Amino acid sequence: MTEPGPQEIRAELADFVGRNWNPDMPLRDWRELLADSGWGAPSWPERWHGRGWPDWTDDIVAAELIALGAVGAPVGLGMSLAAPTLLAHGSDKLKEQLVRPILTGEQTWCQLFSEPGAGSDLAGLSTSAVRDGDQWDVNGQKVWNTSAHHADMGMLLARSDSQVPKHRGLTYFALPMRQPGVEVRPLRQMNFHASFNEVFLTDAHVPLDNVIGEVGGGWPVALTTLAYERRFGAMRPPAYDPRRGRALDEARAESDAHFAVYSWYPQRAGRSDLVIEHARAAGVAGDQVIRQAIARLIILQRVSAWTSERARTARARGARPGAEGSIGKLALSNIARESARVHAMIARAQALLAGPDSPLNGIVAEVLISVPAQSIAGGTDEIQKNILAEKVLGLPPEIRTDKDLPFAQIHRRG
Ligand SMILES: Cc1cc2nc3c(=O)[nH]c(=O)nc-3n(C[C@H](O)[C@H](O)[C@H](O)COP(=O)(O)OP(=O)(O)OC[C@H]3O[C@@H](n4cnc5c(N)ncnc54)[C@H](O)[C@@H]3O)c2cc1C
Repeated sequence: MTEPGPQEIRAELADFVGRNWNPDMPLRDWRELLADSGWGAPSWPERWHGRGWPDWTDDIVAAELIALGAVGAPVGLGMSLAAPTLLAHGSDKLKEQLVRPILTGEQTWCQLFSEPGAGSDLAGLSTSAVRDGDQWDVNGQKVWNTSAHHADMGMLLARSDSQVPKHRGLTYFALPMRQPGVEVRPLRQMNFHASFNEVFLTDAHVPLDNVIGEVGGGWPVALTTLAYERRFGAMRPPAYDPRRGRALDEARAESDAHFAVYSWYPQRAGRSDLVIEHARAAGVAGDQVIRQAIARLIILQRVSAWTSERARTARARGARPGAEGSIGKLALSNIARESARVHAMIARAQALLAGPDSPLNGIVAEVLISVPAQSIAGGTDEIQKNILAEKVLGLPPEIRTDKDLPFAQIHRRG
């Protein structure tokens, strides 16, 4: 399907919404209509509930559905990571089974990559997958798995062959989470939130057909997921029409459940939006040193926003997500750290206080203990720099002595 321009898209969508949307209908029924019409994810292929349009049309359509008082596709790791990964690498049978329930909100997903002994060195993971008749048996431990406590499915990377070099013995599975072999234990963070979990896999079963990509070919599939993960920007709940109605109420409940674990993410990003207000409230907005620090921070933040805009435009022209995602992610870490520093300069010792009498009602203290997560999630800053050095600047690759050894012969930490 050739895509129309933005104005035509808006007009066609308004017509569709006018004919089909009813705020009192069940949310699931509305989402089925979105899936049938291709309006839920217009950039997906027509065969898989989309319209085959470029990526930029997703943003326009999502914003316009909200502006029309309706509801769009669900938010979450299913839409942002699992579906693009399935569309790129999944068999038709698997896509048939798993893509539509993501779009209708019927199934939610979590990412089961990291392990206690494998984070940056993801290809060094040791959770094992052994084929047993018509299923795979999985044993091991995952950690830092956001939202695993309410996910239906997991994007699981596991080792199916330890006799070959580490990158070649991995397989990517769609793991059903609600089974006896999967135990999810929430972790409490130093900012008192509990977004992550440990996931213990003890003889967990995966049907044979749930392999995404090839057996032993999980690494390139994982790279696709990671490339989409590095595109993450600020995550904000959709501003649904405040009126009542079954579909709207159900969409708000779905969004609240999803965003509960992300409530501290604005603080993780440093709250640069609050530095001017903070400086004024503290009576230091006229201080030369603080004014310069604020100006430097806002410049960093605007330049990064424009870089993301450039990346979005490149994607709209059909480029795959690539190195610009790593630049953007690194910039977000720098902004978060700089913002925490500026807030601390303004609040001085009071930055350590929490509770109602503290600066910005405790937000500054939460910023200081949440910002470190920004430069770890989705790949650490150091790993991003390695990627930039090798892929963008063309510098020699990092020395990796364990790259060609069979995994079973590598001495592992932990
Ligand atoms: C907010 C948040 C959400 C997350 N969500 C998920 C999730 O949903 N699913 C999931 O699977 N994981 C998740 N993670 C885990 C995350 O992917 C890992 O924490 C991350 O990849 C780093 O791994 P690690 O913690 O094992 O640190 P390590 O890999 O042990 O790194 C320790 C330090 O060594 C440095 N280092 C390591 N290797 C190199 C190298 N080659 N060169 C230079 N420096 C190096 C690192 O940069 C870091 O500073 C999440 C983490 C956070 C903070």
